[in-house]
Amino acid sequence: TRTYIVTGSASGIGAATAQLLKERGNTVIGVDLRNAEVEADLSTPEGRQIAADRAVELAGGTVDAVIACAGISAPVPLTVSVNFFGVTEFLDRLAPVMARSEAPRAVVVSSMASLQPNSPELVDAMLAGDEPLARQIGQKLADQGPQIGYLNYPSSKRALSRWVRRASISELYAGNGIPLNAVAPGTVLTAMTKELLATPEGVRMVDENVPMPLNGHSEPVVIARILAWLASEENSHLAGQTIYCDGGADASLRGDDI
Ligand code: NAD
Repeated sequence: TRTYIVTGSASGIGAATAQLLKERGNTVIGVDLRNAEVEADLSTPEGRQIAADRAVELAGGTVDAVIACAGISAPVPLTVSVNFFGVTEFLDRLAPVMARSEAPRAVVVSSMASLQPNSPELVDAMLAGDEPLARQIGQKLADQGPQIGYLNYPSSKRALSRWVRRASISELYAGNGIPLNAVAPGTVLTAMTKELLATPEGVRMVDENVPMPLNGHSEPVVIARILAWLASEENSHLAGQTIYCDGGADASLRGDDI
């Protein structure tokens, strides 16, 4: 059996992933703000360090895979800290530990929102690894109200998918034999979308932005299954990709642009 670290394990996609992996006989160390084996705040550099150190300790020094699900969609710069730096810094810390596994794997959760309009300036600041600058740009967007502030979310996911492409072929990941990928869900029934999907107007807005002609909104276990495969021993060569698991939303929106 394998040892997995799963962030965001207390709710939604992370919780479904932790449960699925446990059902399959694996050891799972969950990381979340509360209700997890490791309770830590991935929005700060200190929190990321504490989370990584404690998780490795609980794992007894052997980590086979990390699945980073923790994320928020608030129209504020905190979203950039959790969704981008809370994933990339956390994974970079754990990559040398994973390298000791026979079959190390890393997977992150991006989003259909990675394809939505975003702030290229903010995306660049994240990819440059400059969290203070990214927070500053994100705050300027937030100051213009929730609609512009929302750009923090698609920007964080665009940067994350682009980081996966770059990092997957680096010494730290490819060089250590670690396939690194992202899954981009469509609309998933979790705490994140509950409020939005509670009214017909909300549902209409969501479905206009993310049309899902195949099987509609998904349960979190649907995403968990593909995360689990990407993090399994079976995946030796799939790397650098963002896999859209979205009921056809990407095919609907992007069409022939491929
Ligand atoms: P969720 O709110 O159910 O779960 C997110 C979890 O992340 C929560 O348990 C939360 O406590 C944790 N978290 C938030 N901030 C944290 C922090 N600073 N430190 C540690 N943990 C923190 O949401 P979900 O829908 O399961 O989202 C999981 C991932 O999927 C997110 O990255 C989200 O952006 C992505 N996603 C979700 C959807 C959707 O429709 N639900 C669609 C596309 C992408």
